[in-house]
Amino acid sequence: MPVITRRDLLAGAAALGLTAGLSVESAKAQNRRFRFVHATDMHMQPTLGAEEGIRQAVRRILSLDPRPDFVLTGGDNISNGMSLSRADALAMFGKLEEAYKPLEMPVHHCIGNHDVYAWFSKDDAQRKEPDFGKKMFQDRFVRAPLYRAFDAGEWRFILLDSIAPAEGSYRGWIDDEQLQWLKGEVERVGRQRPILICTHIPLFTIYTQYAIGGVEATPANLIINNNRQVYEILKGYNVKAVLQGHTHVREECEYAGTRYITSGAVCGEWWTGPRLGVDPEGFSVFDVEGENLRWQYVSYGWKARSRPS
Ligand SMILES: [Zn+2]
Repeated sequence: MPVITRRDLLAGAAALGLTAGLSVESAKAQNRRFRFVHATDMHMQPTLGAEEGIRQAVRRILSLDPRPDFVLTGGDNISNGMSLSRADALAMFGKLEEAYKPLEMPVHHCIGNHDVYAWFSKDDAQRKEPDFGKKMFQDRFVRAPLYRAFDAGEWRFILLDSIAPAEGSYRGWIDDEQLQWLKGEVERVGRQRPILICTHIPLFTIYTQYAIGGVEATPANLIINNNRQVYEILKGYNVKAVLQGHTHVREECEYAGTRYITSGAVCGEWWTGPRLGVDPEGFSVFDVEGENLRWQYVSYGWKARSRPS
């Protein structure tokens, strides 16, 4: 029978202590790792198989291994909300709700210009409806302020509402109330914690240069017009990335330590094929470990239909 000495007991305890220590460490490391999907520009519409396409994208999200902890939608959940009748807008939002239902993880929605109901309507009665404008999307999908923030591990995720009315149209703009809130929010978060921002209309992009031409100015509806104001608020904070939609292309630019990532579109070129013949229908998967962020674009294999269905 082996004799157990006091020394053996101490060594055993130390080993146990070490093991316990390690498991706490690995639990911490686990906490510092998470995965999420940024799926933007779904454009639910009655034609071109959009509903089937979105359902296919949802199935692909669910088949990811490891499974994402949550999904961020980047705006333009439906198509043409600004000029739809009430019945048609409700029908599209209804179809979308059904399509998103199988997602068993939290889904955080960001608003896009197409999600705004009836802004282009000249009908006074329609303009007076209680869910006119952003309200319809907000009530059905967000049930909270359209600009807001949440924690993901050590990170703070901030969702912005970048859609503002303009003469007969809309433009990218962060209004004063939201700027004030953003300033307070980053002050509360502090300069150490990593921050990720999600906006539909890009804060910074070079889309115009490669899609239109070198000296073309970026139109007011393609960029947050007061982006410099936003930049000044965020300067000095640990903003790792700004996720953007709207242009449907895949693009990444980095400036002053912040990555400006536009992550394609679920609908590609509005359900007619890859965007500008380059970027297929898809979404982005982000893996976060500590302060590091890696992303990959996942095409879910959609084949555009040759004629409307
Ligand atoms: Zn779009």
